[in-house]
Amino acid sequence: MLIDLHTHSDASDGTDSPAGVIRAAARAGLDVVALTDHDTTRGWAEAADAAREVGVALVRGAELSSKAGGVSVHLLSYLHDPGDVGLLACVDGARDSRVGRAHVMVERIAEDYALTWEDVAAQVAPGATVGRPHIADALVARGHVPTRSEAFTSILASSSPYYVAYRAPHAAELIELVRRAGGVPVLAHPLAASRGRVVSETTIAELAEAGLAGLEADHRDHTAADSERVRAIAARHGLFTTGSSDYHGAGKPNLIGEHTTDPEVLAQIEQLGRMSVVRP
Ligand code: AMP
Ligand code: ZN
Ligand code: FE
Ligand code: FE
Repeated sequence: MLIDLHTHSDASDGTDSPAGVIRAAARAGLDVVALTDHDTTRGWAEAADAAREVGVALVRGAELSSKAGGVSVHLLSYLHDPGDVGLLACVDGARDSRVGRAHVMVERIAEDYALTWEDVAAQVAPGATVGRPHIADALVARGHVPTRSEAFTSILASSSPYYVAYRAPHAAELIELVRRAGGVPVLAHPLAASRGRVVSETTIAELAEAGLAGLEADHRDHTAADSERVRAIAARHGLFTTGSSDYHGAGKPNLIGEHTTDPEVLAQIEQLGRMSVVRP
């Protein structure tokens, strides 16, 4: 049984439609896939229809923006109630803040490169969560960089003078909101140092105390040693571990299904979550 619990569609910064992600999962021979767009559940309905059609099980999820001690923390939430008002208010705040942040980044970049907000807007599907990948696509379209990835190692890097942070809740607060919404909170790529500073084990212990359920261990941005360390930390704090691709369509080299999750862990997630897994 092949299970991939972390993918993005064009409801955020992936390049496939939600149905396209499901079809890609089916082509890759996956049995179960989670759709986890940044700060939105707007891809869920289309993905669920496609999942029933092509015979793949769908775990409805999201990757929510948060912070802990100045470090950006991506929190995967599985099977939460998408209408929970407490969680919605918090997530909508982060999503809105991303729009203002993207505008300011574009203003800064435009001082040195020909780039307008319209260039970026043209890369964002209607209603999608805006992120640096869309600015990257606009820079590629303008010919300033050859690929999304090269934009991330130069103009869009978190160390670049053009970089602007967005407002996001504390990870512990978000974990409590996810739990109250019936969701299952899992830290995404916790030791991915290539993305910037990472959380300490002390912080992970605090988040476990707040209700964190698991850690993503197997992920392209972890070295083999990182993955082992994540498993050791998880064991010390009573957390399960997952493995996933973080597929973004053509936007990143990550191949759907390149890392997978144990069926027993999926069973735990299903038992803890309020929403059901969509089964064909
Ligand atoms: P943001 O959330 O707007 O700060 O942008 C971060 C998003 O960009 C994450 O979803 C990453 O998966 C994506 N990202 C990070 N590094 C790269 C890269 N090198 N190439 C393409 N996408 C990336
Ligand atoms: Zn992304
Ligand atoms: Fe992430
Ligand atoms: Fe992701």
